[in-house]
Amino acid sequence: MNDTVQAGFNDQIKHEFYAAYLYLAISAHFEAENLSGFAHWMKMQAKEEVEHALRLHDHVLRRGGRVQLQPIGAPPAEFGSPVEIFSSVLAHEKKVTGLIHRLFEMAGEASDWAAQQELQWFIAEQVEEEDNASAALDQVTMAGDDKAALLMLDREFGSRIEE
Ligand code: MG
Repeated sequence: MNDTVQAGFNDQIKHEFYAAYLYLAISAHFEAENLSGFAHWMKMQAKEEVEHALRLHDHVLRRGGRVQLQPIGAPPAEFGSPVEIFSSVLAHEKKVTGLIHRLFEMAGEASDWAAQQELQWFIAEQVEEEDNASAALDQVTMAGDDKAALLMLDREFGSRIEE
């Protein structure tokens, strides 16, 4: 892979690890708030993000490229309401979708069809990620300030299994 595409992949590895950091921080927040179902959901999400990073990492290595791990920024330490949190999760996934699309364009500009094929998986995955985040946001929005509804949702989110 050429230097530009390789740098793009290395950047994306960082973004995926940052997403893992963000969701793990949110998970810890929910755990502290005794919303262990939401905490579980976020922890599963964090693990998926690590898998995304590793998938990109493996692709670079299989192509004979060089993985250069970058510093990962610290996630926020304070979080708002569940509605605010899931809004920020959806916004974050939309941002990642934009990054993946840009990387796909970069690969096209470099005629790197193998990279594009790898990124097709991520394009489909982002449709899922946005759909999941959007559905979760809709549900916590419906629960609103109703504590009983929130607890019921927490229990449901706690049953999310590894994909
Ligand atoms: Mg991801």
